[in-house]
Amino acid sequence: MSEKIFTIPINEAFSEQDGCPLCRMREKLEDTTLGYVLGAAMMEPDVRIKMNETGFCADHAEKLRARKNKLSLALILQSHLDEVDKLYETPAAEKKGLFSSRQPSPDGAEAAREMADSCFVCKKVRSTERHYFSNIAYLWEKDPAFHEKMKSQPFLCLSHTAGVLEAGKRELKNADYLSLYETVTALNRRCLEGLKRDIDAFTVSFDHRNAGTPMTEEARSAIERAQAFLK
Ligand SMILES: [Zn+2]
Ligand SMILES: [Zn+2]
Repeated sequence: MSEKIFTIPINEAFSEQDGCPLCRMREKLEDTTLGYVLGAAMMEPDVRIKMNETGFCADHAEKLRARKNKLSLALILQSHLDEVDKLYETPAAEKKGLFSSRQPSPDGAEAAREMADSCFVCKKVRSTERHYFSNIAYLWEKDPAFHEKMKSQPFLCLSHTAGVLEAGKRELKNADYLSLYETVTALNRRCLEGLKRDIDAFTVSFDHRNAGTPMTEEARSAIERAQAFLK
């Protein structure tokens, strides 16, 4: 069980009912991490080395660029480009004939793949989220009031459902896991029922026989809400 340092923000997030509570926590966490990248992380040599090695995914590169501190970003890119330069200096590994069973040794191909698929922000967010999931399992075990908070949620999105249930399965006694599983799947199924109805209404509104019938607000927002549910 990881440290219980996130029980307060989790309780706060689960006290509101506004979409997936963990998506709201993730948004805050991502924002703090982006601020950290362009701020305090710049001053920590160990962290700088990690950032140089991993770089950023397209989404987070875009979000970093949208923030104010352009000099920090340029300095990060400067040393990251040096790291990429080292990668491109690696000579190609020789392939030993077409039918050779021996795999060629790794070269820039693997290193480029690894760098292309890694992101400092994603990694940091994912690792903190893992603590959130563990802390949720802990709260589920220890705090009956948290059960009510979980039950009051409109839904947990797909990826956060996965994280919460995996942590429950890993860290809880069978009876606790069972009740967590049933609670989360029940609230998601309740939400799913409404979403399916609204998506149906959206598609039906395109039928020429319904021309002139105004679309309901629920149908109008169905695609957006279904995508938030499927995140
Ligand atoms: Zn979510
Ligand atoms: Zn990323």
